[in-house]
Amino acid sequence: MTLMAPFRDDTRGNHGGDRIAALVGAVPLVDHHCHGIVRTPLTRPEFESLLCEADGPGPWHGSLFDTQIGFAVRRLCAPVLGLEPHADPDTYLARRAELGPDEVNRLLLRSTGVTEYLVDTGFSPEHSTTPEELAACTGATAHEVVRLEALAEQVMIEHGPRDFADRCREQVKRAARTAVAFKTVAAYRVGLDLAPEHPSDAAVFTASVRWASDIERGLPPRMVDETLTRFLIWTALDTRVPIQFHVGYGDADIDLARADPLLLMPLLRATAALNVPIMLLHNYPFHRHAGYLAQVFDHVFVDVGLSLHNVGTAGAARILGELLELAPFGSVLFSTDGYGLPELFHVGAQVFRQALSEYLETVVAQDQWTESDAIRVARMIAEGNARRAYRLGDRTGSG
Ligand SMILES: [Zn+2]
Repeated sequence: MTLMAPFRDDTRGNHGGDRIAALVGAVPLVDHHCHGIVRTPLTRPEFESLLCEADGPGPWHGSLFDTQIGFAVRRLCAPVLGLEPHADPDTYLARRAELGPDEVNRLLLRSTGVTEYLVDTGFSPEHSTTPEELAACTGATAHEVVRLEALAEQVMIEHGPRDFADRCREQVKRAARTAVAFKTVAAYRVGLDLAPEHPSDAAVFTASVRWASDIERGLPPRMVDETLTRFLIWTALDTRVPIQFHVGYGDADIDLARADPLLLMPLLRATAALNVPIMLLHNYPFHRHAGYLAQVFDHVFVDVGLSLHNVGTAGAARILGELLELAPFGSVLFSTDGYGLPELFHVGAQVFRQALSEYLETVVAQDQWTESDAIRVARMIAEGNARRAYRLGDRTGSG
């Protein structure tokens, strides 16, 4: 596969830097956290509503093309669709409509250099592609990540609170046979200040009866209970499959102050001896806190996915550098957190390559690192760490 390195500047005459840029521009990527894409045509407000964590364009903040991600889409995606870089939003969207969703998805996704996707299927699955469909339109391999809250909600809808703990254990065990990881959105539901103890079956029964009575009173079947969240996490840990935690930055549904990864300290201490990888996703603006946790807990892995494309090219190398201050290089992963728009996958991959390349060129130019160490670390972060942590060599996936 030929990969693009659009950020490469051949005029610099810095041969070490050129070699690093060429390597980082071509290294295959494992995207360890993303979602499906939308395959229907989109209006401008619909497109803007998927661009960042805002609900959509608003009377005060205006168009969401006037953001770092909006500018990055115009710069990096327009040329892939045959336009000049920085094409204006209406020209860009007209070209998108002319090509049609399937061709746009194909062009933008096949040029990311991502060879494996780990796809969270728990959010708006009715509107987006399955892992199999994503694999088919990207030519990559896709693996499913099962969301624990969605699994528990399905059990509650189908069976009610009777035998809730046993049925969840059964479902989690079954999912672990094919899923590459579990994911929890505890940060969105109850916050990350989770008690470290494994709850008893009696406590789980009481909580599930209370939840069932809320549903009977007309509340949506949304699991927002701290005891049940902890029960699901411990149940998933029993299968020894890695667990991803949403951390930090997200849409307005999240109470960001309760999404600081330092709140997970007690649970991380309690789970350390199990040696099951715990993946802290996104982390921004707490990525330095996450880097610390990755250093002190061997089983903790971290990324700055989602934030890199949202802070744009100018800030991405700095954010990645801040994560790499404390996080051991063997604990850092790559993700796009692409959702809905293929543009987010494309920009996520390109901005990551550019940020990593800039960071490595700087430390090599200052003789802090050797070039061979820089290249080795690039491969670890881009794909090697994810392959090890998720045992991707043992998994077939779709594609
Ligand atoms: Zn996500």
